[in-house]
Amino acid sequence: MADVQIACAKTVRYEEKKGTYQLQPAIVHCQDTQISRVEVFATEKEWQQEVERRKGQDGFLILLHHILTPAFVNAHTHVSMGFFRGVLAQELQKRNLMEDLFFTVESHLTPEDVFSFARMGAYESLLAGVGVVWEHYYYGMEIAAALEEVGLVGVIAPTLQDLKGPGVANFDVHWQACEQLYRRQSMPHATSFLAMGPHAPDSVSDVLWQRILAQARSWNVPMHFHLGQSQDEYREVYSRTGLSPVGFLDKMGVWAQAPQTVCAHSIFVTKQDLSRLQDPRHCLVFCPSAQMVFEFPAAVLEWERAGLRWVVATDSVAGNDSMNLQKELRFASGVPRQQLSFDAGYQRFLQDPTGAPPQVSRKDEADFVDVSWILDKVWGNPGRLHPAFRAGTLEAGALANLVAWDLNHPSLWPGDSLRSIAFTDSLGAISNVMTAGKWRGEWGRFGESICASVAYQTAHMHAQKCYRALLLRCGF
Ligand SMILES: [Zn+2]
Repeated sequence: MADVQIACAKTVRYEEKKGTYQLQPAIVHCQDTQISRVEVFATEKEWQQEVERRKGQDGFLILLHHILTPAFVNAHTHVSMGFFRGVLAQELQKRNLMEDLFFTVESHLTPEDVFSFARMGAYESLLAGVGVVWEHYYYGMEIAAALEEVGLVGVIAPTLQDLKGPGVANFDVHWQACEQLYRRQSMPHATSFLAMGPHAPDSVSDVLWQRILAQARSWNVPMHFHLGQSQDEYREVYSRTGLSPVGFLDKMGVWAQAPQTVCAHSIFVTKQDLSRLQDPRHCLVFCPSAQMVFEFPAAVLEWERAGLRWVVATDSVAGNDSMNLQKELRFASGVPRQQLSFDAGYQRFLQDPTGAPPQVSRKDEADFVDVSWILDKVWGNPGRLHPAFRAGTLEAGALANLVAWDLNHPSLWPGDSLRSIAFTDSLGAISNVMTAGKWRGEWGRFGESICASVAYQTAHMHAQKCYRALLLRCGF
């Protein structure tokens, strides 16, 4: 494929030494699925001169009044699970989500359902400026096909479980999907990659944890799993092994030997257990919206104080209702202040009959409102989790996953900084998204053009048909 060059006066660059994202005039070269070169200019004037010189050349695109950023990396999701939005919304609050609802309905899913629903989740992600999803679900090959059709890059962890859950019945199918995905990730211009995906500490036996760990080491791929996501999980692991979920995985050798772990949720992890996760080979994933549905937000202030590596993702349960990472970022940035509502100082003020002025300590956690710090949780940090590729950054060798944001849109005004990407819902400002080297929509009417496309409309109709048939099979 010919070299594509994209010139933008406000291109996001990562300064590794300072750990900051900055806007600089640049020309980004893309070849096939990757960024092949980035030319950075010291001043806008120099950039302008070079742009004038190359104007009209084949494959040379000039983005005026735009910000060019990496596409987001969603480090934990289940793109097929959007159908749960429609299922038993009222029931969600009453039951143990994981077992009573998810496992029951999921046991009726066919591979065709998973493919069809995954396509819808992939479109939703693309419209939210997401270029890479860390996916964890049954029927990994169907998910890979859906992501590839829509154009998303996926790290797919076929869900493996042998003690309980809908994956037990056809375990071999999911294990074979791991083998197929591993072969696929080493093909040229791969867009589907493998992570080994034990479901969770309570649904996977000692023997299977060790088999998965050995395979992850032999293939040098990450292990992506749920960890400490419910009290039930903790209780079951504790009664089976006498250990906490983190302690149990320590005994299995996961923390010492896995090439990389991606641990979703980690709500029920004690401070003592957190101290076992300090190596950056271990990455915790905070999914605040989803966590508020099935439990409550994880203790990310403790993660931060313990110096742990962590990132932000959407997960994808019924109550989350969004693949929009910007919404998760805003919640994450507000965590230190949200806790003040329950702070002793504020409680004293509330109870004080004298009406004396409040004395609430502000407890500022500067990092949480730092634009670069928060964006790194959905750009470079999760973009470095898989040894077979890089994403979330605009530099040579990384996947060509880009978002062009229109500075004329009111949500970006006045457009001098990345604040409006970090703390705002500015998806309406997306002019276009490139994933794996291809622009996916029409310029200036990105979302509209995708939703009006024959490909999307066909996917939507098919998903409706599968959804209705699934409801009938489940007896709803
Ligand atoms: Zn999950």
